[in-house]
Amino acid sequence: MTGTPDRDGGTAGWDREADLVVAGAGPAGMAAALAGAIEGLAVLVCEKSAQTGGTGATSAGTLWIPANSQGREAGFTDSAADGARYLEAVAGRPGDDVAALREAYFRDGPGIIDYFTEHSELRFVACGTHPDYRNNQPGAAVDGRAIVPELFDGRLLGAEFERVRPPIEEFMLLGGMMVSKEDIGLLVKRYRTPGGLVHAARLLARYVLDRLRYRRGTRLTMGNALVGRLYYSLRKRNVPVLFETAVVDLVREDGSVAGVVIEDGNCRSRIRARKGVVLATGGFARSEKFREMFMPEAARPRSMAVGECTGDGLGMATAVGGHIRTDGHGSSSFWSPVSVTRRSDGSEGLFPHLSLDRAKPGLIAVNSAGRRFVNEAVSYHDFVEAMYRSHEIIDTMPAWLVCDAAFVRSYGLGAIHPGTRNLRPFADSGYITLSPTLDGLAAAIGVDGAGLADTVTRHNRFAKDGSDPDFGKGDDAFNRFNGDSGHAPNPCLGPIASPPYVAVAVWPAEIGCSIGLATTPDGEVLDAEGLAIPGLYACGNDMSSMMSGNYPGPGITLGPAFVFGYRAARHAAARTGA
Ligand SMILES: Cc1cc2nc3c(=O)[nH]c(=O)nc-3n(C[C@H](O)[C@H](O)[C@H](O)COP(=O)(O)OP(=O)(O)OC[C@H]3O[C@@H](n4cnc5c(N)ncnc54)[C@H](O)[C@@H]3O)c2cc1C
Repeated sequence: MTGTPDRDGGTAGWDREADLVVAGAGPAGMAAALAGAIEGLAVLVCEKSAQTGGTGATSAGTLWIPANSQGREAGFTDSAADGARYLEAVAGRPGDDVAALREAYFRDGPGIIDYFTEHSELRFVACGTHPDYRNNQPGAAVDGRAIVPELFDGRLLGAEFERVRPPIEEFMLLGGMMVSKEDIGLLVKRYRTPGGLVHAARLLARYVLDRLRYRRGTRLTMGNALVGRLYYSLRKRNVPVLFETAVVDLVREDGSVAGVVIEDGNCRSRIRARKGVVLATGGFARSEKFREMFMPEAARPRSMAVGECTGDGLGMATAVGGHIRTDGHGSSSFWSPVSVTRRSDGSEGLFPHLSLDRAKPGLIAVNSAGRRFVNEAVSYHDFVEAMYRSHEIIDTMPAWLVCDAAFVRSYGLGAIHPGTRNLRPFADSGYITLSPTLDGLAAAIGVDGAGLADTVTRHNRFAKDGSDPDFGKGDDAFNRFNGDSGHAPNPCLGPIASPPYVAVAVWPAEIGCSIGLATTPDGEVLDAEGLAIPGLYACGNDMSSMMSGNYPGPGITLGPAFVFGYRAARHAAARTGA
């Protein structure tokens, strides 16, 4: 990011003014903008793309907020102290700066969510059972700690619905219909239960009607419901969003950040920010330079972030002295294994194997030796960390998820939906490899045949016994939550026994960044000496994560995005003399 000639020059000649300028209309930027508007600030949001939502629009939309009121009202017990104890057990005891972030998060998180639901169109419900990912650690919760947005009716936005970025194609049915995890459960049973059939008919009828007027279904779930609700809330408060407008530079005045330079088409202009500038540009995920600096080589080729997240916030902040915190991160990013799909337009898509297949009974993950290297039911982040460790010894890029066709019919596999009987089209497109024998499968995917045969025999014995002495698949509540509760003796272990056999390749990709700008608990960007740069804030993936590169539970990027987005806006609103 190059500076404009007048970055340190005069401040006359502003083209526009606002109290708070927010760069980026993802969840973090929109949360900061909304809080600013609720606090009475004149807020201006600049969004590089033509749509709101960023990567958040493609996400599951879960927020990890220990001791939240939605969980309490649903009858779950939790405490901020337990949340803090658990995070420390997983992520270690941090230095003072990060400890201050965590303290603010656990203390204020539930109240901040209540503030948003009181003053805007945001509505959350407790997930119910959704275990923390390292469930055997002290302070871990099994239920109530994660919240999700209520479904959102995109029709409320009218023509502005087009401004909500859609989820990835792989997350929609029939080319444009969103479904939740609960919907999937009912749809899979649609021919077995009257409730399932009625639900499927209702979803379909609504979708057909939607498509008469809109380019996709308007019944929004998960991250799309979250960003739809955020954008709807901003509209109701008349907060302007400048689309296709990138913030490209910061303007300083007497050591403070006093405004921004924006670029819209080929035109540049300067906006004065009387109270502050919030950087919420989604982190460095799509910056070649930062990927090379921070990520393991094996992770660099693939990203789940939207293309606009090119590290602009980090670039602009460092140009005015901001400090990128690289120390203390267990990982630079938050990972998921992904398989590579071929989309309807011929382009390449990525399907994240988050929770639907790996933990189910009858699937193993192997490296090129045909050997298991991980408990397949661990979190997506821990799975990829295990891929890296295995890859240090033997080629594990890609790793292979191996199962049989009966498994795919029951549970689906990546982008293949449960209930699918004909796997041939997926094999023909190259998404999966199919073979009538294990030996043939191993040869086709370039994995050691004797190793794979031995691994499957051993695994099938474990499946019969209901116990996995090698990796402990099915041992904890998180494993079992994603397994098949109707399968005994272990909901995560089943034989791989009926040909044809199936394999899909999985690679690492990041779903969010951990490394980012060092900040105070109020989102103020710090310089290398640890001093706040007045007027400059960061939140979301532009901010160094308080999780320190660990993934303790569902919603650990969006939870902080809301909490620190809010705190940044509140701090800016209270700035005097600005
Ligand atoms: C499949 C998937 C599932 C996920 N599920 C969850 C989940 O359930 N819970 C969770 O906590 N996390 C989840 N995540 C991660 C989460 O989506 C991201 O961490 C989150 O979206 C980051 O929010 P953000 O606002 O910082 O960035 P983004 O959502 O990426 O938004 C950044 C915005 O800034 C804009 N922008 C970029 N540069 C500029 C610029 N110079 N000027 C103006 N605008 C700019 C971009 O266009 C974009 O709109 C998931 C991710 C994926 C891929």
